[in-house]
This record gives sequence, C-alpha cells and structure tokens, in this order.
Amino acid sequence: FSPVPRFLADEAATLDLGAAWSSRLNAPLVIYLEGDLGAGKTTLTRGILRGLGHQGAVKSPTYAIVESYPLERFALHHFDLYRFSFPEEWEDAGLDELFAANSVCLIEWPQQGGEFTPPADITATLTHGGGGRKCLLTAHTERGRESLPL
Ligand code: ADP
Ligand code: MG
Repeated sequence: FSPVPRFLADEAATLDLGAAWSSRLNAPLVIYLEGDLGAGKTTLTRGILRGLGHQGAVKSPTYAIVESYPLERFALHHFDLYRFSFPEEWEDAGLDELFAANSVCLIEWPQQGGEFTPPADITATLTHGGGGRKCLLTAHTERGRESLPL
C-alpha cells in the first residue's frame, strides 16, 4: 500500500488530522506512532480522542505506560512504551488483554515492547520539517488500508 504524506503546519493541523481520521477508526485496530520525542505522537492521539467526543484531558502515558478511554464505539488504549526497560514487563503489566476485539490501540515507541507488541495495521510516522511536521500513514493490512483517513 502506498503511504499518504501530509504536511502539518502547526499543532492545530495535527489535532485536525486526528479528528478527521477518528471517524474512520473501528475496532479491532493497532496503530504504531513513530517519531522522535516531541514529534507530535501524543498530539495526534489527542486529536483522535477529541474527534471521538472525549472531552477530558489526554495525558501522555509515559509513566503510566497506558491510558485507556472507554468510548461509545470502542475502547481506545494509548500506550507509551518509552520507559519499558524489559519487554517481559508486558506480561507483568497485563497489557495483552487490552488488545481485544473492541479495542483500538495506539502505541508510541512500539519497538520497546519487543516481540510482545502485536503487529500494526497502520504505522503513523511523524517527522520534524518545514517549520511543522510531516506525517506519513502506512497501512500494513487490508483492515488498516480501510481505516486510513480519506
Ligand atoms: P510526542 O508524543 O511525539 O513526544 P507531543 O505530541 O507530546 O510529542 O508534543 C509535540 C509538541 O510539538 C507539542 O508541543 C505540540 O504543540 C507541538 N506540535 C504538534 N504538532 C505540531 C506541528 N504540526 N507543528 C509544530 N508543532 C507541533
Ligand atoms: Mg508522547
């Protein structure tokens, strides 16, 4: 599948992409969020959650590892594995059960989970550039392709 590159001029554009994308998301789905610290992974997630009607705060789950949001159509689990030191923590933390039929999982630093991290339907890659960010969405499965923003 060919990736869709987008230029995001500012934070509002990142939030708008997330909101526009949100209506296309259906469980089960696994999305990897790739990019350096400050690339906008959590901001994009915040946009998705706003688009899905979540009114409250969206905290970066760097210390909690995962923040879960029970929404109308599915549960959204936002992982940040940056502080994962041993992939075995995956089992100890009981993360497997969050990858359920009614879950949409967004994962920052997915490689930190090693072989425990389930494969992605879509990878969103955020990079700094042109005074803003570039976002590349790559689908790896048919399900992922059907879930890309239009
Ligand atoms: P990450 O989760 O990738 O570490 P965050 O989303 O927490 O990054 O932080 C991204 C930072 O960059 C925030 O300060 C946000 O305001 C800013 N930002 C987000 N999107 C853009 C953009 N398109 N252009 C410029 N700055 C942005
Ligand atoms: Mg983050």
